[in-house]
Amino acid sequence: MSDPRDDRPITPGFARYEWKLREEIVVRCRELNERGLNRGTSGNISARCGEGFLVSPSSFPYEMMQAEHVVPMYFDGSYAGKLKPSSEWRFHLDILQARPELQAVIHAHPIYCTTIAILGHDIPSLHYMIAVTGADTVRCAPYETFGTQELSHNAVEALGKSNACLLANHGVICTGGNLGGAMFVLEEVETLAHQYFNTLQVGGPKLLSPEQMEDVRKAMMGGYGKARPRD
Ligand code: 13P
Ligand code: ZN
Repeated sequence: MSDPRDDRPITPGFARYEWKLREEIVVRCRELNERGLNRGTSGNISARCGEGFLVSPSSFPYEMMQAEHVVPMYFDGSYAGKLKPSSEWRFHLDILQARPELQAVIHAHPIYCTTIAILGHDIPSLHYMIAVTGADTVRCAPYETFGTQELSHNAVEALGKSNACLLANHGVICTGGNLGGAMFVLEEVETLAHQYFNTLQVGGPKLLSPEQMEDVRKAMMGGYGKARPRD
């Protein structure tokens, strides 16, 4: 196994920072399965790094994954090291390129998000916590085969300026200003999908109005979801 530290540096002069980010990707990949947000080798995680981004390797068991297995990629689609990047590297690349403010992208197949995505539904404004996605609706991107440029196109479109979208008959993508932020959104969106699924059993949800959602946005403007000391 070659040591990717010998490869073209993705962050010239910042090898230690890059290594820490690789380690965090490994921890977050394991966390996906430990927290019931994914199963098996499904899902993948990326984080912007220097001149490119780091992405989890394709179909690699999370419990065996180490920092050296994380794949450095560049925005021209090339990658360093011996392991293949996630088959979904296209949407990781396209999202990070389309949204310069984002640092992290997480894709997973959690049960309830995937169930709603199989129905082809968007998740509507059924609970105020949908505001943590930055939108009133989690849109569902039309189906395309995994790993394709077409799927990436649909994902970027459905995501828009928000931090979450479903992928029809597939799963979910969540984004954030760091890996912890993307994981926070993922856990919330899975909860919303679970609540939506429950309400669909008994006639469907009573939705919050655009005005009520606007009030939620204002109330959250102080930075809800970011743990901070009291003023
Ligand atoms: P990778 O193992 O190639 O990342 O693929 C998993 C997946 O979820 C494909 O959509
Ligand atoms: Zn997938």
